[in-house]
Amino acid sequence: MRKIIIAIDGYSGCGKSSTAKEVAKRLEYKHIDSGATYRAVTLYFIQNEINLNDNDAVNEALGKISIDFIYNKELGKNETFLNQQNVEEEIRKMYVSEMVSPVSAIKEVRGTMVSIQRKMALDGGVVMDGRDIGSVVFPEAELKIFMVASDEARARRRYLELKGKGQEVSVEEIARNFRERDQQDTSRKESPLVRVEDAIEIDTSDLEFEDQVQMVLDLANEKIGE
Ligand code: C5P
Repeated sequence: MRKIIIAIDGYSGCGKSSTAKEVAKRLEYKHIDSGATYRAVTLYFIQNEINLNDNDAVNEALGKISIDFIYNKELGKNETFLNQQNVEEEIRKMYVSEMVSPVSAIKEVRGTMVSIQRKMALDGGVVMDGRDIGSVVFPEAELKIFMVASDEARARRRYLELKGKGQEVSVEEIARNFRERDQQDTSRKESPLVRVEDAIEIDTSDLEFEDQVQMVLDLANEKIGE
C-alpha cells in the first residue's frame, strides 16, 4: 500500500501532537513531533545560557546538538533525546514553553530543525505535527490538516494534561502562554504559522479525542486509496 505524508499544523494546544501520535499508531506510521525538536534546542540554549542575539554563539550551539526520537515500548510513544539524554519530561515544562517561540523565530535554528525533521521522515509513512509542516517542511504532503480550537478548550485540556504529570500551573498561565506563542508564531518573519490553501481545517473544540482521530484517519485512508 502506498505510504503518504500527513502534515498537521495549527495553533498551540489544539491537540495536534496527541492526534498525530494516535493516527500514526493506527496506520503503523512514524510520528514526528516537530515542536519537540524546537523545545529540545530551547532547553539546550537555556542550559548553556546562549545569547539569542549572538549569531556566532547560536551557530556554534546548533553544531553541538543532536536530537533523536526513541520509541519507548512500555509507554507506547516516542521520547525526545537531546545529546543522548532523555529530555521528554523537561521540554514540556513551563519555563521551556516560555522561551520556545523566540528561539524558533531564529532563521538558523529553523534551518537546522527542518533538515533534522526531513531526515527523520526519509522512509515515508509519516505523521508530522507543527507550525510549518504543510507550508515549508513538506509542501508536497498528500494530506494537510490545520487544527484549531477555542481558547477555553485548549487551556482546559492542557491544564488537565500538566496536572496529570504533577506540574502545578494555572489555567490562566497556560492561556497566556498560548496567546503569546500564537502571536509570536504567526507574526515571525521566518516561516510563520499559516493555514495553507490545500489544508483541511478541523476544529477540535467540541470533539471527543476519538472523533478527531477518526476524522484524520478517514481523510488519510481516502488519500492512501487514491
Ligand atoms: O508543538 P509545540 O507546542 O510543542 O511547539 C512548541 C513551539 O515550537 C511553538 O510554539 C513554535 O514556536 C515552535 N514550533 C515551530 N515550528 C514547528 C513546530 C513548533 O516554530 N514546526
